[in-house]
Amino acid sequence: MEQQPCIFCKIAQGDIPAKKVYEDEEVVAFHDIHPIAPVHLLLIPKKHIPSLAKIHEADAPLLGKMMALTGKLAYDAGATHGFRLIVNTGTVGGQEVAHLHYHIIGGPEPLGRMLGK
Ligand code: AMP
Ligand code: ZN
Repeated sequence: MEQQPCIFCKIAQGDIPAKKVYEDEEVVAFHDIHPIAPVHLLLIPKKHIPSLAKIHEADAPLLGKMMALTGKLAYDAGATHGFRLIVNTGTVGGQEVAHLHYHIIGGPEPLGRMLGK
């Protein structure tokens, strides 16, 4: 069983520090602690959703809102010419933190076709 609250729930609740760049009542965005590109943000729902594979239909507006936020968050963080959105999902997808998160990855330079971890 997963420990509750998880590390991203703790960040959402302000119980552990993060370099937050955006927050509202439903979501929070912060810098990834191990960035793989000049811009590497994580955008999470404050509500604990384990992964993209565990979505309920009622979550669709929240996910859509998150998607709609990505462009401005990326631009404001310095990814002015585009970015990559990655949602690692489950063990096959390489998901390590079991709280839904969008990786917003970019930089001043093109990322290249593949960007592994
Ligand atoms: P994933 O493999 O998609 O589950 O990615 C989890 C991401 O969370 C990794 O890129 C980690 O560097 C990042 N991460 C883990 N703990 C923290 C933390 N306390 N603050 C910021 N980012 C974190
Ligand atoms: Zn959580």
